[in-house]
Amino acid sequence: MKIDDKFNFKELVSSLAIVIPFWIVAIVLWRSTGDIFYLFNFLYIGAAVGIGIGVYSALPRKKKPLGRKLTLFLIGGYLFVFLGLLNSENLQIEGFFFYLLAGFFSGSVIHYMVAKIFGPILFSRAWCSWACWTAMILDLLPYKHGSGRIPGKWGGSRHIHFILSLSIVLLLWFGSGYRVESRSITELYWLLAGNAIYYATGITLAFWLKDNRAFCKYVCPITTILKFTTRFSLLKIRGDIEKCTECGACMKTCPMDIRIPDYVKMGSRVLSTECILCQTCVNTCPAGALKVSFGLDIGGKELLNER
Ligand code: SF4
Ligand code: SF4
Ligand code: SF4
Repeated sequence: MKIDDKFNFKELVSSLAIVIPFWIVAIVLWRSTGDIFYLFNFLYIGAAVGIGIGVYSALPRKKKPLGRKLTLFLIGGYLFVFLGLLNSENLQIEGFFFYLLAGFFSGSVIHYMVAKIFGPILFSRAWCSWACWTAMILDLLPYKHGSGRIPGKWGGSRHIHFILSLSIVLLLWFGSGYRVESRSITELYWLLAGNAIYYATGITLAFWLKDNRAFCKYVCPITTILKFTTRFSLLKIRGDIEKCTECGACMKTCPMDIRIPDYVKMGSRVLSTECILCQTCVNTCPAGALKVSFGLDIGGKELLNER
């Protein structure tokens, strides 16, 4: 039996070191604001990231998707239940816009700043594969690998959704004088209604297009922000042209339909801002030609596999 087929406890323990920066942030924010929420929140998130990545690293290659799904539930589930449901914060993109207009430095605003605006400059769209509470459910559906994208510009519908969401908020705010009250029952209704629509649309599209990630590819407005900063991501997938046999296995399993071998042939990293850094390709490649790499580039062509 190869070492890769066993659960590796050393990997689990060494990955736990990732909790340290989160716990430092927890203590600094708690001491400087006096708010116990920051202590609890960042201690928990640090522990969830540490355990999730630790289990992912320790699992044998074929079982690694389980580690990623565990992380999705530990982080996405916590944010949705604790921050959203129990603390009545509207985590939908409309909530983020409303809090910005109101000048609330809420948990939701911190969340968008870290996970969806500035964080992707470092860790790409890892939010989408390791922490999103919408994907947490959609990834359980049967169509892990779609058969490609719908041809045409359908991906642009996400940006139309973004503009519509922003317009609704601005109309309500400036047109009708609507105001948000932090942690009120109205915020909870916004959250519940928004998520119900997202889950219903996501599940319907997944079965219709036979693609778990159809919602991410054609509907989710958050991609407008994510795709912008992801262009500059320091972490991206890199392929080794010497090792690559052009078998195409990575492309067949990529949930975002990215033509990975084309990037490898060009000698560039996977520059598509559709990459969610799930590492399915890394764990699939029989030649061991792919890995997560650290570097500097500003994105490039969206080489996508279309139906
Ligand atoms: S694209 Fe949207 S729904 Fe899909 S994983 Fe990313 S944030 Fe979540
Ligand atoms: S290129 Fe690899 S890491 Fe990126 S989305 Fe596709 S399978 Fe995941
Ligand atoms: S799976 Fe590996 S060897 Fe096959 S095309 Fe992709 S990078 Fe190349």
